[in-house]
Amino acid sequence: MAPLTNGSVHKSTKIHSKVVIIGSGPAGHTAAVYLARANLNPVLFEGFMANGFAAGGQLTTTTEIENYPGFPKGIMGPELMDKFREQSIRFGTQVITETVSKIDLSARPFRYWREGQEDEEPETADAVIIATGASAKRLGLKGEDMYWQSGISACAVCDGAVPIFRNKPLAVIGGGDSAAEEATYLTKYGSHVYVLVRRGELRASKIMAKRLMNNPKITVLWHTVATECQGDGDLLNNLRLKNVFTGEEKDLPVNGLFYAIGHEPATALVRNQLHTDEEGYIITVPGTTQTSIKGVFAAGDVQDKRYRQAITSAGSGCMAALEVERLLSEEE
Ligand code: FAD
Repeated sequence: MAPLTNGSVHKSTKIHSKVVIIGSGPAGHTAAVYLARANLNPVLFEGFMANGFAAGGQLTTTTEIENYPGFPKGIMGPELMDKFREQSIRFGTQVITETVSKIDLSARPFRYWREGQEDEEPETADAVIIATGASAKRLGLKGEDMYWQSGISACAVCDGAVPIFRNKPLAVIGGGDSAAEEATYLTKYGSHVYVLVRRGELRASKIMAKRLMNNPKITVLWHTVATECQGDGDLLNNLRLKNVFTGEEKDLPVNGLFYAIGHEPATALVRNQLHTDEEGYIITVPGTTQTSIKGVFAAGDVQDKRYRQAITSAGSGCMAALEVERLLSEEE
């Protein structure tokens, strides 16, 4: 099929594909499986570690996944992502271990460049799926790197139920709706949950704040920040706290620390081209993965600040693939 056009035509001597998928988490690979099975020969850029983009996405940074259906005994995050990749390739996806550093969505076929090849001829695609994911914001506290995923987490739903947190005192950092939601959720597992709030009030909605304040298993520590994460070398067991008003410092013995200070969607590539919200998440037409540009779809955490789970990302990857398939067949 000839490259589709939507306005001006870009000439290219490099690869032209019907669809390019940027990102290699559950969303990107699920889209790839569907598109490859539909004989659309997708090209998937999985990112290159040296550019700070680890192939396989966020799940490669964690240990056991207990809530991905189909694995009743759980599965290690990196192993799950290896399986996603294997399944994409099995049906013919061309997986490229490089990062897309530049994209031009102003006309179809869309043009994009690989990292380090920005001055060369671009590659082109009739449709694009952005599945570049997101990452949890971190504070860079002393000891944070040592105990990240060994007591420190940014996802209560993912990690709250693991044995190291059960019936143990836990802490949540943040004052918004996410912090209120995570703290309330963690009371199911922890013996007590402390919420560290820098200000003297919560940013959470009234209803969430009320639920938090009325929970006997939650204590809010106002005007409080954590300054250091401490432990036994393997697992976190203490936080050093500071009162931002008085400067007073103290210990808070906890076995879990959950960051609820927001996520950073990986949208630098498409900023100022696609409609994004105030936090940078790509806005899609409700109930679809269609972005503000025809032929460009977004799936996974890059467009979802609410659920942020592997299964929901995979689900939206499937939606994006079916929407690409429909669009391209209508245009044939
Ligand atoms: P991501 O997984 O974020 O992957 C995006 C990929 O795109 C990355 O590989 C990145 O390198 C690549 N990329 C980005 N930009 C480019 C580019 N320009 N060019 C090429 N490649 C690019 N969810 C659960 O359901 N259960 C759990 O137990 C669970 N545990 C978690 C534990 C941790 C520590 C973390 C961080 C997350 C956890 N999650 C869990 C959440 C889950 O990992 C995410 O919801 C899911 O991975 C999002 O998938 P995604 O496809 O949107 O993107």
